[in-house]
Amino acid sequence: MTPHAHAFCSIVPPHLLEHLAHSSNPAVAAAARRTLIADASARTFRVLPLPGTAPTLAPAEAGRPHRTVYDCRQGTDLPGERVRAEGEEATADATVNRAYAGLGATFDLFMNVFGHDSIDGAGLPLHASVHYDENYGNAFWNGEQMVFGDGDDEIFLDFTLPVDVIGHELAHGFTQYSANLEYFSQSGALNESVSDVFGSLVKQYAHGQSAEQADWLIGEGLFHPNVQGTALRSMKAPGTAYDDDVLGKDPQPAHMDDYVRTGRDNGGVHINSGIPNHAFYLAATELGGNAWDRAGRIWYDVMTGGTLTPEARFSEFAAATVAAARARYGDGEEIQAVLKAWAAVGVPTD
Ligand SMILES: [Zn+2]
Repeated sequence: MTPHAHAFCSIVPPHLLEHLAHSSNPAVAAAARRTLIADASARTFRVLPLPGTAPTLAPAEAGRPHRTVYDCRQGTDLPGERVRAEGEEATADATVNRAYAGLGATFDLFMNVFGHDSIDGAGLPLHASVHYDENYGNAFWNGEQMVFGDGDDEIFLDFTLPVDVIGHELAHGFTQYSANLEYFSQSGALNESVSDVFGSLVKQYAHGQSAEQADWLIGEGLFHPNVQGTALRSMKAPGTAYDDDVLGKDPQPAHMDDYVRTGRDNGGVHINSGIPNHAFYLAATELGGNAWDRAGRIWYDVMTGGTLTPEARFSEFAAATVAAARARYGDGEEIQAVLKAWAAVGVPTD
């Protein structure tokens, strides 16, 4: 495991921003170009230890979150000015408070449901920077912390609005500290999918929603009302999240027959994640009740079980979910739901 390995995992994929960069609306195109440039530099930025993570500090109380929110004030220096730390009162800035609450919601899912103390299982302090850059249309995890843009207010609104986006980004940290799936091709699409799975579970757990009640969307509420789309991705129906003149159409497949071979987006990590996303949705809805109880537990066991290789392909991950279902629940309906789900998306489990 390389907890300080360089990573850059953003919620909005490059293909979508590239589409926007060619928009006839100059404000939209300019914001998208600016975001692409900022992403390129953030991708190569060397991650420095954050203040507050220095080993001289007393460790946070076990089983309790240790959150800090910073304000970049439209600049790009990270982490920015510290504006709210653990236990401090709400500020006048709703964005700061949403980031703080979203870190807490993510911590709660991992701690209360899985007994996993923070995203590394060892009480890692959680850091988030808001108001990053001007008109910045993305949110990302850089290997050490989360970063949120305000959006351009033409296509994207404030990236702290959807709690599942916060859960998604922090789940990249969970993956980094557990199975450490390589961010390329099928293992990269699994890395993206695991973030969507746990991001959606953060939202479902925070709202007390069963698998039937959940919307299974990622980033619902992020698009400006003028956009023809409901979210960035749909786990229930990959490929249907948006279809817009400016944004283009959601390119996600839901089945291996439609797997997209591309060199862009790290080998289509935000595209082919639709396939394992849909498998999780199918397993969770087949089992019913709260998705985090059994389907979520099986996926969690796979990520923390130590059997998955960082270069795992879909079939290896699928086989691991079957093994995890058997190990935890025996030969019951759980293993049947998992087998059925992977068969439905065309991924072999043996
Ligand atoms: Zn991601």
